[in-house]
Amino acid sequence: MIAELREIAGRLGDVPAYVYDLAALDAHAARIREATRGIEVYYAVKANPDPAILRTLAPYVDGFEVSSGGEFDHVSALFPGKRLAFGGPGKTASDLTRKPYRFHVESPRELDLLESADVLLRVNLRTEVEGAALAMSGPFGMDPAMVDECRTRLGSGNIRVRGIHAHLASGLDAPALISLAKTIADHAHEGEEVCVGGGMAVDYTDPANIFDWTTYGEGLRGLDRDILRIEPGRAMTAYCGWYLTKVLDVKRVHGELFAILTGGTHHLRTPVTKGHDQPFTVFTPGGQGALRRPGEGSGHDEEITLVGQLCTPKDVFARRVGATLRPGDVVAFAMAGAYAYNISHHDFLMHPKPEFHYVSGMP
Ligand SMILES: *Cc1c(COP(=O)(O)O)cnc(C)c1O
Repeated sequence: MIAELREIAGRLGDVPAYVYDLAALDAHAARIREATRGIEVYYAVKANPDPAILRTLAPYVDGFEVSSGGEFDHVSALFPGKRLAFGGPGKTASDLTRKPYRFHVESPRELDLLESADVLLRVNLRTEVEGAALAMSGPFGMDPAMVDECRTRLGSGNIRVRGIHAHLASGLDAPALISLAKTIADHAHEGEEVCVGGGMAVDYTDPANIFDWTTYGEGLRGLDRDILRIEPGRAMTAYCGWYLTKVLDVKRVHGELFAILTGGTHHLRTPVTKGHDQPFTVFTPGGQGALRRPGEGSGHDEEITLVGQLCTPKDVFARRVGATLRPGDVVAFAMAGAYAYNISHHDFLMHPKPEFHYVSGMP
């Protein structure tokens, strides 16, 4: 992969590029599938709905989790007949006319508006989720009393409650997610399906520190439910994406060293939303590139802040990290495959859109 990245970096012009390593994604998904055998895996499409990514994942997942009518239509057109779970707060009447394999019902009103459906009731549990990057508290789903209300007001025979669903936090390690899954499963009735959501941790400070899928799979199988389902998003696709941009300028302003790069966080919003330094590797023209993490300078590196072309001080990829950069160098930001391009505000400032390259490492 590094060879292919270097080759694309070598001919990068003034327009940044995304590179998706589909071979790496394929291998990663195969490992997840093996570690979670016996558990149903639905990929959470909102992490990255790129068709090439979905096609690579499709053989390894039991279905897709979609969170809008748009995602539902996108995925059903690509994979007719594939099982879809339709979740998300704030479904419109038109959303509720669609026919997914499962609807994740978020309120009694949604249930009333549905005509015929197989549903999971989304439960919002007030558990302390220690170490979570993002606790999904707030309006999502229903408290246990509301879930009970849903169960009792099911008059018509056309709505079948198949089980419960929860997605309570993100950024958790395997032991924390297993204990959360136990808590969620305790709220399901005998024989019901249990979907415990996504939220598997992705460590942006250490790309090699991968979520422990083996422990997670074992722990989930240990819960001994008939149908247990997970919905990973970030931890499936974060690693396969790279965002390549070129250094335009390097300058010191009031003592702080900046590198100004082509593109910006309107292409790669992840460091802004997560408040982190995006890991990167540097390709110098004709030189070698090696993955270097923020803060891991060579000893000779100075602290430098990597920014984009946007006219806002928030357009920062990485802050005061150790690196030596010169105009013409190409910076390849790693871990740009989830909640990256698709959550970014591409039209701000009318800079050109990036190019997309799909590499498979195969001829
Ligand atoms: C976003 C979301 C997911 C995926 O979460 P990740 O943190 O990307 O794994 C799964 N289920 C639901 C309901 C979600 O909203």
